[in-house]
Amino acid sequence: MRLGLDIGGTKTDAVAVDHTGVIVDRVRLATGFGPEAVIATALDGVARIAEITGVPVPEFESIGIGIPGQVDVTTGSVWHAVNLGFDELDVGRRLGEALGRDVKVENDVKAAALGAYHLMTVAGPGPAARSIAYLNLGTGLAAGLVIDGRLWRGARGAAGEIGHIPVDPNGVLCACGQRGCLETVASGSAIARQWVSDDPIPARSLLAAAEAGDPEAVAIRSLLIDNIAAAVRVLVLTVDVEVVMIGGGLSNLGEWLLDEVRRVLTSWAVESPFLASLGLDARVQLVPVDFPAAAVGAALVGAPTGAGAVPQNQEEVAAWQK
Ligand SMILES: [Zn+2]
Repeated sequence: MRLGLDIGGTKTDAVAVDHTGVIVDRVRLATGFGPEAVIATALDGVARIAEITGVPVPEFESIGIGIPGQVDVTTGSVWHAVNLGFDELDVGRRLGEALGRDVKVENDVKAAALGAYHLMTVAGPGPAARSIAYLNLGTGLAAGLVIDGRLWRGARGAAGEIGHIPVDPNGVLCACGQRGCLETVASGSAIARQWVSDDPIPARSLLAAAEAGDPEAVAIRSLLIDNIAAAVRVLVLTVDVEVVMIGGGLSNLGEWLLDEVRRVLTSWAVESPFLASLGLDARVQLVPVDFPAAAVGAALVGAPTGAGAVPQNQEEVAAWQK
């Protein structure tokens, strides 16, 4: 049994995954704000899963944490987790000391990529994809890459940070210091900035207004969809992943979002035989709304087949079980 936690800005998902990769138990907790509260939330999540499963903490094969921010996977240190209320926290060491065992820490989007890959290859019904990208459309925009079955972090952990590819030289200033980044036009924060409303879910208000014919809303919606499609194109053109799986808060827009992104990709293919040959529209999928990708991925971060590896086929799953 493996244990994974996805520590989000408001909620923390905790799951237990058995040796076949199936989620056997899960709980959801409110995430505390600030360093001490985040550590307490993580410990609470571990204790709750241990209690539900009846597996003592030392007996989990691995315990992994997915967390927003910049993560040093060798030490478990985390930086710039603004939404969690800290700038630097030794998450791995703190949890390791409290639990008396090794705890792996991974960036939440990278962990979700592992979880999405797992869903596609091991838990999913379809043919195994060897390489996938997970495109997270949350407050920000970022991707995680699993290439030939391995999580690809890059030389400095920046692989997949496509939200900071500038797409508009005249665009607004991004938090990263550049101008007109993809994230400034295709993310939850992009919608909130451009479409001010009382609705706690600005995307919902934006889409309703666009549906009613508000020209400003229509323009913002169009910019959003075009640039999500652009993110898919960037991912396929740089690493030629078989599938781009869209997750994160905006993926709750569901089939409507998927249809719109595919419509844009198809329209580009009409203009470009090159893009047409790549079949972009057929490569996009949604992560099921109820699938806790980052928590499952975090559980798999400590898999014994290698750092950041998950079993790549049924033989490796069988090997895992021994
Ligand atoms: Zn940026």
